Amino acid sequence: MRAAPLLGIAIVATAFGSAAGAQTPPRPHNVVLFVADGLRSRMVDDSTAPTMAALARAGVALRNSHALFPTFTTANASAMATGHMLGDTGDFSNTIDAGFEVPGAGKSLTPFLESDPVLGDVDEHYSGDYLDEATILKLARDKGYSTATVGKLGPALIFDHTERTGAKTIVVDDLTGSPTGIPLSPEMTARLQAASLPLAAPSRGENGKSGNMATPGTHSANVVQQGYFADVTTRAVLPLFKERDKPFVLVFWSRDPDGTQHNQGDSLNSLVPGINGPTSLAAIRNADDDLARIRSTLSELGLLDSTDIIVTSDHGFSTIAKESRTSSTVKTRFADTPPGHLPFGFVALDLAHALNLPLLDPDDGYKTIADGQHPRLGNGLIGGDRKNPKIVVAANGGSDLIYLPDGDTALAKRVVDVLLAEDYVSGIFVDSKLGKFPGTAALDDIALEGSAVTPLPAIAISFRSFDTICGEPVRCTVEIADTGLQQGQGMHGSFSRADTWNFTAMQGPDFKSQFIDPAPASNADLGRTIAQLMQLSLQDKGKLVGRVLSETLPNGAVPAYTSRVVKSDPAANGLATVIDMQMVGTTRYFDAAGFPGRTVGLSSMGPASATQ
Ligand SMILES: [Zn+2]
Repeated sequence: MRAAPLLGIAIVATAFGSAAGAQTPPRPHNVVLFVADGLRSRMVDDSTAPTMAALARAGVALRNSHALFPTFTTANASAMATGHMLGDTGDFSNTIDAGFEVPGAGKSLTPFLESDPVLGDVDEHYSGDYLDEATILKLARDKGYSTATVGKLGPALIFDHTERTGAKTIVVDDLTGSPTGIPLSPEMTARLQAASLPLAAPSRGENGKSGNMATPGTHSANVVQQGYFADVTTRAVLPLFKERDKPFVLVFWSRDPDGTQHNQGDSLNSLVPGINGPTSLAAIRNADDDLARIRSTLSELGLLDSTDIIVTSDHGFSTIAKESRTSSTVKTRFADTPPGHLPFGFVALDLAHALNLPLLDPDDGYKTIADGQHPRLGNGLIGGDRKNPKIVVAANGGSDLIYLPDGDTALAKRVVDVLLAEDYVSGIFVDSKLGKFPGTAALDDIALEGSAVTPLPAIAISFRSFDTICGEPVRCTVEIADTGLQQGQGMHGSFSRADTWNFTAMQGPDFKSQFIDPAPASNADLGRTIAQLMQLSLQDKGKLVGRVLSETLPNGAVPAYTSRVVKSDPAANGLATVIDMQMVGTTRYFDAAGFPGRTVGLSSMGPASATQ
């Protein structure tokens, strides 16, 4: 049943024999980074997620943790993977203006990055590394450690996206077994066969069904697909790592609860229960069950005492609202949108309408959008032509990105004026090179201007959020979202605290026990902390780095931290972008941002309300 154990031992002798010397540091412990995609900090307790709740109680509970804005998956994966904030990684959102027509995305200028082929294309275009910062898995395998990343397509590969052979880092995701996926090595193929596991990942099945305006989405958590990923991890990867007897880093990216909260059919067109219905709760439990399986396998293999487990989520979550009184789109009938609701692509449609410029669809052969139509995936090229658009809108969900390829400051002013008049906007952030505009903050104020090699958005906009009053606003936040999903389904991406407040906890030989960490922490900090635990030497290009969470380590003191509020000059209509943040030294943590009264969690401004 067991394949090639002798080979593993031979590699150990080579890797550590050559490194032996007087100053050899002690062998680091192993790290398991378990990411429960879209798990809200305040949704973990003994009934919803008992494994995570117990882990947080026994180890370190980070009560003040942060996803980075835009609160999307690939963006936050890039931060965990590199220890840098998004201004450096250039993974500004799940959908970006890539600066070129991406073959793996059907020649779209605005690819969705949760794709192995797209990540390959973007890497190739940007000199082999679109993040332009080394990832922790690359550094770990360069040191001779075992590395694997298993789970959700896109974020899983980002942890070692420059190594696509499957030979060095084990990559198992949705595309495993497909011609466009990362191949399995002969060693992993043998391991899977010996464990009687398929060589191809199953699809999401029922869980992948998002429904439409008349049909509810799924009532199934992503149990089958994640069961396969957990099988691969517990029956193939961890036994292999045990035999190799080298330090290892394993990333397990659980699509649940994210995928289920997006697609759930518990609340079609209704804000309640939204993402707090039974299907979403089953998804939280599904992620928790996968963690429990991994933990018990570590125990069975005798690895629990030598392995640090870090559990986090890339971002929080909210229920979708699609109502607006100001958008030009709500008076138009769209075939797939309930009357009066915002269609997918409303930002692109509103800008094209207000500026009286044509709108091209980069995801549908660059055809011109006619009246009563919306861009297929919400993205749009406005004005100019396919090769020289004046404005590019990358639609993402709870926030959108707007690019001005010409760097036209007069056009930036016009776009800002349009956005300031829309009731769905809460918070506008502009590239500081374009100047200062009343009512807006700078991208630099939220750590989005750094050393990135991908195109910098001209403007990032966060959408309005409010509370349906369930006793704790961040547990029942609703947000306007630019999405093909329906009101009542789930989304994230905004600058509300509901979307920035992720769950984070850790337990293991390198961490304190029974410690509640009150200091601010972020996903970029996790990358720095893992690098320190594994003795990896980061060679930073950018300066927007996280910090090592030294207070979670034995003898580490809680650092001093302070709160700060940044407020822009008001626009003519009185709106001002406010940013609530915390600081540890010079490291910034962004709690929430937006227009007062339109964003849940803007602490200095009182609660956001359902009525504007
Ligand atoms: Zn996510």
